[in-house]
Amino acid sequence: MLVTNLGYPRIGRQRELKRLLESYWEGRCSTAELIDGAQATEEANWRRQLKLGIELLPVGDFSLYDHVLDTAVMFGLIPARFKPLSQNGGLDLYFALARGTEDAPALAMRKWFDTNYHYLVPEWDPETQPVLSRNLPLDAFRRAQRRLGTAGKPVVLGPFTFVKLSRVTNWQRALEAMVPPYAQMLQEMEAAGVEWVQVDEPALVCDVTAAELKALTATYTELARPLKNLKLILQTYFGSANWFSHLITLPVAGIGLDFVRGRRGNLANLEHYGFPPGKVLGAGIVDGRNVWRTNIEEALRLLEKLQSFVPRERLWLQPSCSLLHLPLSTAGEDSLPPALREALAFADERLAELRLLKRALAEGTGVVAAEISAANRALRALETMDHRRIPAVRARVAALKEEDFSRPTPFSERKELQKRRLGLPPLPTTTIGSFPQTPDLRAARARFRRGELGRQEYQALIREKIAAWIRLQERLGLDLLVHGEFERSDMVEYFAARLPGFALTTNGWVQSYGSRCVKPPILYGDVWRSQPLTVAETTYAQSLTSKPVKAILTGPVTFLKWSFVREDLSEQEVAYQLALVIRDEIRDLEREGIAAIQIDEPAFREGLPLRARDRERYLYWAVTAFRLATAGAGPETQIHTHMCYSEFGDIIHAIEGLDADVISLEAARSGAGVLAAFREAGYRRDIGLGVFDVHSPHPPEEEAMARLLREALRVFAAEQLWVNPDCGLKTRREEEAVTALERMVAVARRLRAAL
Ligand code: GLN
Ligand code: ZN
Repeated sequence: MLVTNLGYPRIGRQRELKRLLESYWEGRCSTAELIDGAQATEEANWRRQLKLGIELLPVGDFSLYDHVLDTAVMFGLIPARFKPLSQNGGLDLYFALARGTEDAPALAMRKWFDTNYHYLVPEWDPETQPVLSRNLPLDAFRRAQRRLGTAGKPVVLGPFTFVKLSRVTNWQRALEAMVPPYAQMLQEMEAAGVEWVQVDEPALVCDVTAAELKALTATYTELARPLKNLKLILQTYFGSANWFSHLITLPVAGIGLDFVRGRRGNLANLEHYGFPPGKVLGAGIVDGRNVWRTNIEEALRLLEKLQSFVPRERLWLQPSCSLLHLPLSTAGEDSLPPALREALAFADERLAELRLLKRALAEGTGVVAAEISAANRALRALETMDHRRIPAVRARVAALKEEDFSRPTPFSERKELQKRRLGLPPLPTTTIGSFPQTPDLRAARARFRRGELGRQEYQALIREKIAAWIRLQERLGLDLLVHGEFERSDMVEYFAARLPGFALTTNGWVQSYGSRCVKPPILYGDVWRSQPLTVAETTYAQSLTSKPVKAILTGPVTFLKWSFVREDLSEQEVAYQLALVIRDEIRDLEREGIAAIQIDEPAFREGLPLRARDRERYLYWAVTAFRLATAGAGPETQIHTHMCYSEFGDIIHAIEGLDADVISLEAARSGAGVLAAFREAGYRRDIGLGVFDVHSPHPPEEEAMARLLREALRVFAAEQLWVNPDCGLKTRREEEAVTALERMVAVARRLRAAL
């Protein structure tokens, strides 16, 4: 029974990789320093995993920015607009693809399945023929061999999933074209003495058509044909494997299954179809997506059961998916309530759990009795923690009535009332909420947290920022203003810190994209609003201007999806608790005269289950939670929502069901094409077009924005359109934000005049 891992957090214990990347981008460190530093982090990650008992080390899962981008670059899939950079090659080109340049917008960014990790979408020009330009996973294998004397397990993104995640015109042809370079990559590994390769095919837990299955089978047959000693383990995760009876006939030496998220489906499949003799079963037994300690006894029972399908020498113990989605370690999280801390397992603790499971199976549970009872005790203590069950919160949710979920006045009437109240011009301009979080602000917040800066001084600084940006927005000529979110380190963390039932970690960082990390809060108890959350800052901003100020709140689905959430309550129940928090806040904001309120739901789409059959249930609770949050608002209060970096085609009706008056969307990277889907679905409510990419440090060209808007005006009436950036501006520098907004307003005015 081999203990292995599928992937490990890349960012480093002190977020070394983040610091390194950012200093490289700012020109403060050389290419050599970047590479050396990154490889030092990679090596530290390896050593840690070996120390924690990993017997077959994953290598090549590390990345300087994103593993999907690595795969695209490795196979030479460089869109034509980046060709001028191809000569310099190397890192300049790599980061240009990720972050864009003045002349070439970056690759589109999308959520990795239903996680909050973003990958870069590979683009294929129709003529592009993929070729293996560098064997990155083999390089990593050799590094591990050289530095640690370990023969690792290269991790590669499988060709099927890679093509599914790419922007291609003909996926079948693309998949065929991938075969020669993938085959070459594997053969080179074989020649170098690699024994096992983990081929990640998470797309196999999604809906897969019969034609896709056929192409997949052909692909793997081709890839396996020339291999003699190299073995492939086909790794699935984030759910149960689709087409199981076919997958087990593929010419691979092993199959990895997720027994946490896909437990029921995978077990049913094993019962039904059995498992082929001779193959390895990679059993994803500890959770790579959530942070609750594993119930060891239950896991042991499951492993017993699995041994009725595979003998133990062919059973591998592994996490349910890569540990990329967990923070590194609970060590040092001393500010958490002790009972909570004891009930948690991050990446390192997951590996320790695997080792414990192996010992229990190999030597009998008696040897680890103390560890098992400690785990049981911790899980029981969690159940009885303060906040875990607040009767008043439960009762309020239980008493909800149908009318709590609907605004009584229809959108068409609300629109008129709001128009009169807000008095905005056609094609009104606004922003998504946050303005640059400048170094002085971040430094002040850090000092405030350490107790070196008093609350009053800190709040005075926030007010100064709000005032400066209200003046600035007036000068820029924006129509619907925002206060700037300066008080918020993060759109979920800020609220979580003020809500009972949530806990925050000190160092629980998880990579979101590139160098960006988030610290998901831990939602462990019943949640309710014990104090106003945003009223002071929003009303202060409103007091400074005669233009309307839009309040910004985070929506229930995003709260839930961007936190690590308790598993003893249904997602619906938790989402309704969160919705009531927002509902109470909206009521207070309305009382203070705030006329527009935005409920951000950037995670709405990523929460969509990967299989169509599960979607209705999700959409039901997600939509009703949003409605519960907002339906208390009066008809003359304009409810906005915001979503970004998502594919919307299949959920437009659900979005309509939110009954938000305005939705602002990303369009700069995806193009006005996103609108076509809204048009086709007959979407009637207002749409804010995200006309520039907030993640690019290069100011947007007016012409590009005008083109987008003109295209939008061809499909939608001007009365339905707003103009805004594609997301919040907090990561931009002040000058960058100002220039971008100046140009955006100029474009809106130009087009407005031409209406
Ligand atoms: N209001 C948030 C901001 O402006 C929205 C962020 C998001 O969509 N991710 O930063
Ligand atoms: Zn956004």
